[in-house]
Amino acid sequence: MTVEQETRLLRSVPNRLFIGGEWVHASSGRTFDVVDPSTGASLTTIADASASDGLLALDAAVAARDAWAATAPRARGEILRGAFDLLQERAEDFALLMTLEMGKPLAEARGEVAYGGEFLRWFGEEAVRIGGHYGPSPEGTGRMIVTRLPVGPSLLITPWNFPLAMATRKIAPALAAGCTVVVKPAELTPLTTLYLARLFEEVGLPAGVLNVVTTSSAAEVSAPIIADRRLRKLSFTGSTAVGIRLLEQASANVLRTSMELGGNAPFLVFEDADLDLAVEGAMVAKFRNIGQACTAANRFIVHESLAEEFAARVTARVQELRVGRGTEDGVGIGPLINEAAVAKAVRLVDDAVSRGATVLTGGSPIAGSGTFFEPTVVIGVRPGSDILREEIFGPVLSIVTFTDEADAVAKANDTEYGLVSYAYTRDLARGQRLIESLQTGMLGLNVGVVSNAAAPFGGVKQSGIGREGGAEGIEEYLETKYVLTPNPFG
Ligand code: ADP
Repeated sequence: MTVEQETRLLRSVPNRLFIGGEWVHASSGRTFDVVDPSTGASLTTIADASASDGLLALDAAVAARDAWAATAPRARGEILRGAFDLLQERAEDFALLMTLEMGKPLAEARGEVAYGGEFLRWFGEEAVRIGGHYGPSPEGTGRMIVTRLPVGPSLLITPWNFPLAMATRKIAPALAAGCTVVVKPAELTPLTTLYLARLFEEVGLPAGVLNVVTTSSAAEVSAPIIADRRLRKLSFTGSTAVGIRLLEQASANVLRTSMELGGNAPFLVFEDADLDLAVEGAMVAKFRNIGQACTAANRFIVHESLAEEFAARVTARVQELRVGRGTEDGVGIGPLINEAAVAKAVRLVDDAVSRGATVLTGGSPIAGSGTFFEPTVVIGVRPGSDILREEIFGPVLSIVTFTDEADAVAKANDTEYGLVSYAYTRDLARGQRLIESLQTGMLGLNVGVVSNAAAPFGGVKQSGIGREGGAEGIEEYLETKYVLTPNPFG
C-alpha cells in the first residue's frame, strides 16, 4: 500500500452525517479526529453529532418508514444484493479503510469484507421469505391469520472491532424486514460505516431508510433516540456494562432489543484431541483480530497430560507472528485499539504472574509509536486470576489444565458469560455431551471460528439477548400480528 492510495481513499470517505439522504454537518459545527492506532496520527476529521442531530436522523427514519415497509420485499432484497455486488468491486478500499482506522492486518480486513458482505447477500435473499400462516381455529368457528410486519424504526449501535461486519449484520436484516434505521457507529472506527452509507446511496436506497450519526458523545446522542416513542427497536453490540445501561433505557420505552455483549470463551482441548487441529484452531480463535473479538478464546483449558506439549507448540507458532502496521506484508498482529487496551493487557498478565503463572513468550507492550502489545502465552494460570474472569481483548493466550470431562465442563461454565465455546475431541459421544453441557450460545466443535452469515450468532447469560444472522436474524426486526376472522362457511 502506498501513502497515495491511503490519501486518495481517505479523501473519498464522506466526513459528514448522513440524514434523510443528505450529507450534512453537525448542527454544532463540531468535528472529531479518527486516529490510526498503529501510528497515533489523525487519519481525518469527521462530523461530531449532538443530541439534536440524532433526533433529526430519527425524524428521517420515521418519515421513510411507511414507504420502505410498503416496498416490495423483492425490491428491498435487490437493493441489498446491489450493495453486495458493489462491495465486491470496492473490496480493497473497504479492507484498507478498516486496517487504517482499526489496525487489523490487511489480510484479515479482506476476510471481514467477505464475511461482512455475506450479510448483505444472505438477507437480500431472506427478504422474500418473510412468512406467516392461515388456518382454522381449534373450534372450527374462525380462521386464524398470523402475519409478520416490520417492527419499525431501529437504532443500531455498533462496536469498533469489526467495523463493517457489525454494521452489515444489523443493517441488512433490518432493511430486509422493511425497517428504517439510524446507525451510530463506534467513535473509534466510524469511517467504514460512512463509506458503506455512500455505497447504499449509490445503489439507490431511498432517502431516510439508512441514516448514520457519528459522534464522540455516544450516550448524549443515543439516549434521546432510545427514549423517543417513535423508535421501536434497539440493536447493540458492545460491552456488557454498556448493554445493561441501554437495556435500562430501552425498558422505559418498551423497545424490542437485541444485545450482543461480552464473552469469555473457553477453548477445551481433551486428551483425545487432534493436536495439530487444536493448535491451528487456537491460533485463529485467539489471535484473529489481534485478540479483539467477543468470540476470542479467552481461557485455554487443556487436559493435564497435553498442556506442556500444547503450550510449547502454540508458543513456537506465536513466536513466528510478525507484529506491525496492518498494511505491511506478512503482519499477523496489528496494534491494539488504544492505550487503555494495552493497559488492560498489562494488568491482566501482571496479575496472573503475581499469582504464580509463567510467561512463555511476550508479556509486554512494545515501545514506540502506536499501541502494540507482544503476542503472549501464559501457562499455569491460577484460579482467581483476573485473566480468567475478564475479557482480555488482546493477543494473550492463557492456559489452565483440567483432569477429567466433569472438571473441564465445570471450568468452562465458571463464568458469567456464555457467547461461544470451542472444544477439541475425537470422541463423538463426548462431543454430543458437550453440546448440551456447555452453557453457550455457540460451539465450535473441532473448529476455531464459528461466524457465518447463515448462522444464528449470539449468546446466553451475560453475553446477550437475541441472534444475528441466519433465519433467526430477520426475526429480530419483525413483529407478529394475529388476525381472527369468522369461518366463511358459517
Ligand atoms: P467496547 O468495549 O467494544 O468499546 P462499548 O460498549 O464501549 O464497547 O462500545 C460499543 C458501542 O457502544 C460504541 O458505538 C460506543 O460508542 C457505544 N456506547 C458506549 N457507551 C455508550 C452509552 N453510554 N450509551 C450509548 N452508547 C454507548
